[in-house]
Amino acid sequence: SDYLVGKTALVTAAGQGIGRASALAYKRAGANVIATDINGEALQTLAVEGISTRLLDVRDEAAVRGAVAEIGAVDILFNCAGVVHGGTVLDVKDEELAFAWDLNVRSMLRTVRAVLPGMLARGGGAIVNMSSVASSVKGVPNRFAYSVTKAAVIGLTKSIAADYVGQNIRCNAICPGTVESPSLQERMRASGDYEAARAAFIARQPMGRIGAPEEIADLAVYLSGATYTTGQAYVIDGGWTG
Ligand code: NAD
Repeated sequence: SDYLVGKTALVTAAGQGIGRASALAYKRAGANVIATDINGEALQTLAVEGISTRLLDVRDEAAVRGAVAEIGAVDILFNCAGVVHGGTVLDVKDEELAFAWDLNVRSMLRTVRAVLPGMLARGGGAIVNMSSVASSVKGVPNRFAYSVTKAAVIGLTKSIAADYVGQNIRCNAICPGTVESPSLQERMRASGDYEAARAAFIARQPMGRIGAPEEIADLAVYLSGATYTTGQAYVIDGGWTG
């Protein structure tokens, strides 16, 4: 399609899962895609699809600034990087919470601070931030650090949207339910009983299945071009919270 023709889209954590599906979806929508990740091997699977790739650790402020300086104009920023920690408020270690805060929240400040001045100078831009239903949307058991940080993503999204709505900057968040991805596979294996873990994930999705990364990617693409929405947290969860 030509939905995003002429737009440059910077995607973080594009090596696998939702980020990878999104890089491909942005390309199909006609955007010039810069797919970034810390995993060069994973990025290679996008490079062979004709997508520009570059190593980028979103925890590294200087690297983020350097990457954006080299890329130049960014019209669309999809902040997809994030990590899941299990555990309750009593289980979670301070180091885990600090890590989750840095990767799930501070990373977005780094990328936004790097791209926003350029967007403002060029008269507009779209930012899409990856949150989760496990956030301020819904209390999900055993996801304390994750939910705290993903709720913060919704807060920072609304704040940015409110500050820049008059300058043609739109900023929205995506809140998926359970989505098929390599890290979900890892979590199911790590549970010790893969089949039981998978069945439990499916059982909480009223649609009776886990979401596909492509379904989330379509929403990221839509929000990147949608002209009359900002400051929203879009739930896409197979009916979990409906
Ligand atoms: P994933 O967890 O399988 O992959 C994550 C990717 O992030 C990997 O390619 C990894 O190399 C990259 N990454 C890790 N640290 C990085 C860093 N410092 N800098 C740059 N990249 C880094 O993919 P996923 O499960 O699709 O998750 C993607 C996003 O979607 C995350 O923010 C996650 O919290 C969110 N999310 C996922 C689900 C789900 O069920 N899969 C549900 C809701 C939200």
